[in-house]
Amino acid sequence: MYKQPLLVSACLLGQPVRYDGHGKAMPSPLLFELARRYQLLSICPECQAGLPTPRPAAEISGGDGGDVLDGRARVITQTGQDVSRAFIDGARQALDSAIRHGCRQALLKANSPSCGNRQIHSGHFDQQLQPGSGVTASLLQRQGTSVCNENEMEGLLITKPQP
Ligand code: SF4
Repeated sequence: MYKQPLLVSACLLGQPVRYDGHGKAMPSPLLFELARRYQLLSICPECQAGLPTPRPAAEISGGDGGDVLDGRARVITQTGQDVSRAFIDGARQALDSAIRHGCRQALLKANSPSCGNRQIHSGHFDQQLQPGSGVTASLLQRQGTSVCNENEMEGLLITKPQP
């Protein structure tokens, strides 16, 4: 049976790829249901760009992911390193994967400087959130991919995948 492809943040699938070396798996029944309905395409833009795990936490300074793509903002680690280039590279690899598989939907981890689709951290490492998308989510959205996060995935489970 044909299943529509769905890009999914690897950490939501339980893979230990987060900056702290852990995953953030969704509950098993949800994962099971998603796997039943979709061809899950696991991505971790930061790892695919060659960043190590664990790695220093990073936040977007001076804007959001779209501003990083346009050169108006930077992704800076807690130790002060500019990792913008790696984040953009990871976003491009995620987009390549989406195009290769004809994928128009993505389920990405909320609040991440790469994957966040609605909010990102403030850029001051103060635990505060602000409106905006991460670098990968921004690039995918610009190219017409529908992006949701793990707190708003009801639509993925209700909508019947198109043949
Ligand atoms: S880049 Fe995305 S997939 Fe990778 S750890 Fe961060 S939130 Fe998860």
